[in-house]
Amino acid sequence: MLIVKKFGGSSVANVERIYNVAKRCIEDYKRGDNVVVVLSAMGKTTDGLIELANSVSKRPNRREMDMLLTTGEQVSVALMAMAMQELNVPAISLNAFQIGIHTTQVHTNSRIKEIDKARIRHELENRKIVIVAGFQGIDKYDDLTTLGRGGSDTTAVALAAALHADKCEIFTDVEGVYTADPRIVPDASKLKEISYDEMLEMATLGAKVLHNRSVELAKKYSVPLVVRSSLNMEEGTEVKEETRMEKMLVSGVAADKNTARISLIGLKDVPGVAFKVFNCLAKKNVNIDMILQSIGREGSKDITFTVPRDMLEDALEVLEENRDTLCFDRVSSKKSVAKVSVIGSGMATNPGVAAKMFEALFNAGINIKMISTSEIRVTVLIEEEETELAVRAIHEAFRLKDL
Ligand code: ADP
Ligand code: ASP
Ligand code: MG
Repeated sequence: MLIVKKFGGSSVANVERIYNVAKRCIEDYKRGDNVVVVLSAMGKTTDGLIELANSVSKRPNRREMDMLLTTGEQVSVALMAMAMQELNVPAISLNAFQIGIHTTQVHTNSRIKEIDKARIRHELENRKIVIVAGFQGIDKYDDLTTLGRGGSDTTAVALAAALHADKCEIFTDVEGVYTADPRIVPDASKLKEISYDEMLEMATLGAKVLHNRSVELAKKYSVPLVVRSSLNMEEGTEVKEETRMEKMLVSGVAADKNTARISLIGLKDVPGVAFKVFNCLAKKNVNIDMILQSIGREGSKDITFTVPRDMLEDALEVLEENRDTLCFDRVSSKKSVAKVSVIGSGMATNPGVAAKMFEALFNAGINIKMISTSEIRVTVLIEEEETELAVRAIHEAFRLKDL
């Protein structure tokens, strides 16, 4: 059996935890399995490196940012290999360049295109535990790239898909996927299983327990995925195509603070305006999320949309650069907003979900700034400082009585 096991930052935060992970992997190895381990940087290393970069430069060059951030994972894989060797098990650490994890060129947010399998296969054939630096890749110039915050999950799933692994286990600091972030809602319940589609929405909408791209890949390549704790042996949550359970009305509440709002005021009310706005943002790799366009009045209209907060400066810059072509009166933006969403595949056929969510927000005195919906989710934009209150209120509303 080939198993890919991924351990996040808190699971390898110190020497004791590194040994705990080493021993857990060795158990599988001694059972005869082939083991590939993917690691994140130790503890809050990545946050520390970003802070360091920001203290050197106001807007750090993204290529250099990747050069810096990839060092974090390199530290943990080397230490893990040493720990396993200390326990008399042959292990080897590899980075993205040594393996050949090829990505797009979008620094700090690249996507994996292809993974070379030869080196890993060779090491596994020699009965070594292969320890891979997560989160990183190389582009067509062999420059280091990173996959976006939380991207080690994606490294693990991509490797599991490429190597046709029998199992991909994501070990983290909670026991699985919960109905809401257990740090915000202490009585949230652990889900035994969740469908790829629901998990993808949860991850995309801010449940950082899994990187959204990892779920996308798991679905595309049918990778059997489990999220569980690195600190105990509890069963965890299975992420799979179809769950045995009846379609749940609401499977979870998610919040995302990495959000900012931009409004373009006084655009011309003619065809092609939205195309021009979003086309120039797309060229700069700015992801757009919620979009609201006002109806035209006296020949002009407004467009409001959200972008990831860390892309706000880039987005404003490209809009200013194209001011003459886009012809707007003014642009306004706000950083301190957050998205809160309810997700559930059962809501497609149940019209009461949005109303129930809005009622919960109303009762909590929270004002909604924007709304967007899909078949399996409802998302609202609110003030950032009200995020936790909103998550708790919505979670409580859906837990107390079913529709
Ligand atoms: P790792 O370093 O292991 O990758 P992360 O911090 O990236 O860990 O992800 C785990 C965290 O995700 C948890 O500590 C928890 O606070 C948060 N989280 C957010 N939403 C959820 C959810 N629905 N279920 C479980 N954890 C969640
Ligand atoms: N170390 C990276 C981060 O903190 C990647 C990861 O943890 O998955 O975002
Ligand atoms: Mg993570």
